[in-house]
Amino acid sequence: MPDGVSPLKPLVLVVEDEAALATMLRYNLEKQGFRVEEASDGQEALTRIAEVQPDLVLLDWMLPVMSGIEVCRQIRRRPATRDLPVIMVTARTDDQDAVRGLNTGADDYVTKPFSLEGLLARMRALLRRSSAVPAKGRLMFHDIAMDLAAHRVQRNTRPVHLGPTEFRLLEFLMQHPRRVFSREELLDAVWGPDIHVEPRTVDVHIRRLRKSINGEGELDVVRTVRAAGYALDTEPV
Ligand code: CA
Repeated sequence: MPDGVSPLKPLVLVVEDEAALATMLRYNLEKQGFRVEEASDGQEALTRIAEVQPDLVLLDWMLPVMSGIEVCRQIRRRPATRDLPVIMVTARTDDQDAVRGLNTGADDYVTKPFSLEGLLARMRALLRRSSAVPAKGRLMFHDIAMDLAAHRVQRNTRPVHLGPTEFRLLEFLMQHPRRVFSREELLDAVWGPDIHVEPRTVDVHIRRLRKSINGEGELDVVRTVRAAGYALDTEPV
């Protein structure tokens, strides 16, 4: 990553195989205060995403090696990038294709030729939405460290591997240590209010979280509060 560039400027990965369009986008986005990285095929896009951790991806639909749709699927499949904002750029005017793009997990799309103003408005709307969720950073509780940007969890020096749901569960609990949450509150916060799952699903994921986070001889940091719910706590009941 280049030095001397404000880390507050959002980083956009432009995935585009038409060099002239990529150059035009870089020029205009930089002028608008974005940092820009580029990739010119689908495979390179995935590599660059892992390397530079962009705040947003502008993803061309028709790409060599791997299509934009497949790239988008892979982005959504990986826990570290499942919430990464993606705008699909398509040359097709067929609505069905646009819908298919959104179904594969793109947050929005623009159709070539697009206006720069329209694109910028969509980008800013998406970035606002994604920064409304807790800022990327580091959470600490007792001897547990969560690196939200790198999607890594450590207890003492031991790396802890969590599934995506357990990760979000721990993230939420670490944001509100020692507070007791009911199963319903956890469902709302971690799964979202529109997802309908059984409250006992929470128990399953709490069990998995405990299994991963509590190593041999380590303190159980998840407190079960009978008839009330769960809390992240180092004090026994
Ligand atoms: Ca293309």
